[in-house]
Amino acid sequence: MIELPTLADAFNARRALAGIAIRTPLVRSELSDRVGQEVLLKLEILQPIGAFKLRGATYAISRLTEEQRKHGVVCCSTGNHGRAVAFAARRLDVRAIVCLSNLVPEIKVRAIEALGAEVRRIGDSQDEAAVEVQRLVDEEGMIDIPPFDHADVIAGQATIGIELLEDCPELEHILVPLSGGGLIAGVAMAAKAIKPSIRVTALTMQRGSAMAASLQAGKPVAVEELPTLADSLGGGIGEDNRYTLQMCTQLVDELVLLSEEEIYRGMRSLLLDDRLVAEGSAAVGHAALLAGRVELDGPAALLISGRNVDMRQIVNIAAHRPVEIGDLQVCPP
Ligand SMILES: *Cc1c(COP(=O)(O)O)cnc(C)c1O
Repeated sequence: MIELPTLADAFNARRALAGIAIRTPLVRSELSDRVGQEVLLKLEILQPIGAFKLRGATYAISRLTEEQRKHGVVCCSTGNHGRAVAFAARRLDVRAIVCLSNLVPEIKVRAIEALGAEVRRIGDSQDEAAVEVQRLVDEEGMIDIPPFDHADVIAGQATIGIELLEDCPELEHILVPLSGGGLIAGVAMAAKAIKPSIRVTALTMQRGSAMAASLQAGKPVAVEELPTLADSLGGGIGEDNRYTLQMCTQLVDELVLLSEEEIYRGMRSLLLDDRLVAEGSAAVGHAALLAGRVELDGPAALLISGRNVDMRQIVNIAAHRPVEIGDLQVCPP
């Protein structure tokens, strides 16, 4: 039996994050009037590096011993975790290598390099990048900082759950983007420990969600990784998944899968209604509410998880022009 992270771990993480990750604001969305409930936005796009991943990566690296830090850290990532590891490693003067598949957008690759980490690009899936991570661990003794399936990473993301209920104790519902499940596992664990009645909805894309398939199968399932507007939500959950599948099974109340057109509309609404630049992965809450896919029965928070989007994509969506996703053209009527 492994020990799952607890609310006490999340409070420890909060101390370690002070001065590195910020306590992000919770602000009212323009969607509130449209859906007839208070809709609040947790602005993780305001973190240094532009995504919540800074929380988990910082806490995990802060927990390494002096000896482990000398070996350097390595990770695979759809982009934002790599950037978070690079940022946290630089602050703590630790060498970092980030392994990325060729599906990761160029803007994220350049940002990681700019933080002084070494980038290795391997294959067309997270799983192929993960093989290189394992090699660096086995042959060079580097320390793996996984993007989601790690107790300290989950505890770091869980600090968001604490902040949400401190800033809005009336909250009834939290809508969370889902990929590997570190974010939702942490947030749901902390939020339900503080307020057991709170409802947690997972949102992800129809195209290639490994966690959705794994929750349905009751065990880790690999799915083909496909290009999507929500590129930060791609990737497998690992066939030896230890924490997040179990925690998602226990803590997630409902799961909604969104089409690329719905995500496009969500990004457009974030931009035009709430005036926020965010990734497709961060727009799934808007997408689900606009598509009428989630019913709210009280004040709700949407996690606006990251803003590291290609600006050409944002400009096209603002102008209501088609966006190319692999060989798909997305442009809702
Ligand atoms: C990583 C990420 C997610 C999903 O987090 P998981 O812990 O993998 O479920 C959502 N949004 C953004 C912007 C991310 O970078």
